[in-house]
Amino acid sequence: MMKEQAMLIAGKWKHKEQVIQVDDPGTGEVIGSVPNGSSEDMEEALESALEGKNIASSMSIRDRMNILTKAAELVDDNHEEISQLISSEGIKTITEARSEATRAAETLRLCAEEARRLTGETINFDQMPGNTDRHGYTYRFPLGIIGAITPFNDPFNLVVHKIGPAIAGGNAVILKPATQTPLSALWLTEKLLEAGLPERVMSVVTGSGGEVTPPLVESSEVRMITFTGGLPTGERIAKTAGLKKLSMELGSNSPFLVFNDANIDKAAEAAVAGSYGAGGQNCLSVQRIFVQKEVEETFTQKFLEKTEQLITGDKKSEETDIGPVISENVAKNIIADIRNAEEKGAEILCGGTRDHCFVQPTLLRNVPKRHSLYQEEIFGPVALLHTFSSYEEAIDLANEVNFGLQAGVFTNHLQTAHQTIADLHVGGVMINDSSDFRIDAMPFGGVKGSGIGREGPHTALMDMTEPRVACFKMDG
Ligand code: NAP
Repeated sequence: MMKEQAMLIAGKWKHKEQVIQVDDPGTGEVIGSVPNGSSEDMEEALESALEGKNIASSMSIRDRMNILTKAAELVDDNHEEISQLISSEGIKTITEARSEATRAAETLRLCAEEARRLTGETINFDQMPGNTDRHGYTYRFPLGIIGAITPFNDPFNLVVHKIGPAIAGGNAVILKPATQTPLSALWLTEKLLEAGLPERVMSVVTGSGGEVTPPLVESSEVRMITFTGGLPTGERIAKTAGLKKLSMELGSNSPFLVFNDANIDKAAEAAVAGSYGAGGQNCLSVQRIFVQKEVEETFTQKFLEKTEQLITGDKKSEETDIGPVISENVAKNIIADIRNAEEKGAEILCGGTRDHCFVQPTLLRNVPKRHSLYQEEIFGPVALLHTFSSYEEAIDLANEVNFGLQAGVFTNHLQTAHQTIADLHVGGVMINDSSDFRIDAMPFGGVKGSGIGREGPHTALMDMTEPRVACFKMDG
């Protein structure tokens, strides 16, 4: 059903004559529209946030916890509705969308719990000579106004990962959701208001990122930009942001290492799930698979058998494993890259074709290392297979790109496992699991081109608040 959504600015739901259609990428059906916001709309949101930050900082911890907990309950109570919306506007199968909705409710609750634990620390001033009469501690205060910019692939839970800690920390927040998937974010906004969030504490401005975000990114009133998206956009934001905190959750082309001593069946199962879950459109997706030579044949056979069982197609069917990529243009580009890699010597072991936005799960052997499919993030259901002979070679292969979000390592050798944790240049090493594993409570983020900082309610709350030292001179 077509929904004409408004954006929320200065506490008011605002429609505009010019709208942006929201399509279901699987069917092409128009499912809604949002206002085509402008930089003036963003200026208005910023003006409102100047008042909003005072309202936000005066909310007690109890109020913040109550709002977040109530919003989590509203997500639970309307779980199927939001799951259907996540699936319709984006790339997720209904099963994946339900899992995202469940996680988002959990993330909201985690943010509420973190608000309860928002404490400072005592300082031993008497460690320095002449300070025995001084006592003190830190409080944590909100930063003020936070700008949040989010991508299409987890349109609900990744928004919660930014809005939740911002509210827990007593900040005002302005959100710019992805143009392809703005409806889930606006649904969340409605629920937060219903849960008691004061109106001016949050604004949501829809519209094209390049048009709408510059006033937000450049404003000296905004103390932090929390961004999740691609490396090129992250770099653009960093160039103009000026003196403010940046949290950059960017992409990757995650390595997946399989050593001789691993359980090969489990490794193949994890590699398939990690490569093709969400149609490969996870920042954590398995992209570059490195298998020790002796077990390559067994691994490849098992990988292909498991891939053959996957069903690509109708997102709303419970049977479907893989939905579409976000647009037909993206699908065309992925196939063109696969053809190009084939011309340069890569072997297609499965897939390599598409039907509209649906790219068949693809495994390519020996893509040249200088090829963009190897160096860049594919963000589609395509994995690359290579072999290695030694531990050192495996680590070199894994590390030789400009990304480092997470890695998956399959080994049953304790020493190898521990050594990879020290040697892989990433934000997380998942032993006997795929790189595509995350719980919402853990610190999450990458190194190199994969970003700056860590997300997750605790770390984000620390980033979105700052300590203020209180020092008492007792003989005053
Ligand atoms: P994107 O193209 O970088 O867009 C992300 C957001 O930035 C969107 O809201 C977009 O708005 C906005 N934007 C675009 N141009 C901008 C500009 N010049 N200034 C400011 N904002 C701008 O990314 P995407 O294609 O939506 O998402 C996929 C990427 O996100 C992948 O690289 C993936 O790995 C990454 N990701 C990372 C994580 C993580 O936690 N590390 C998680 C999920 C996804 P419009 O939609 O209007 O263009």
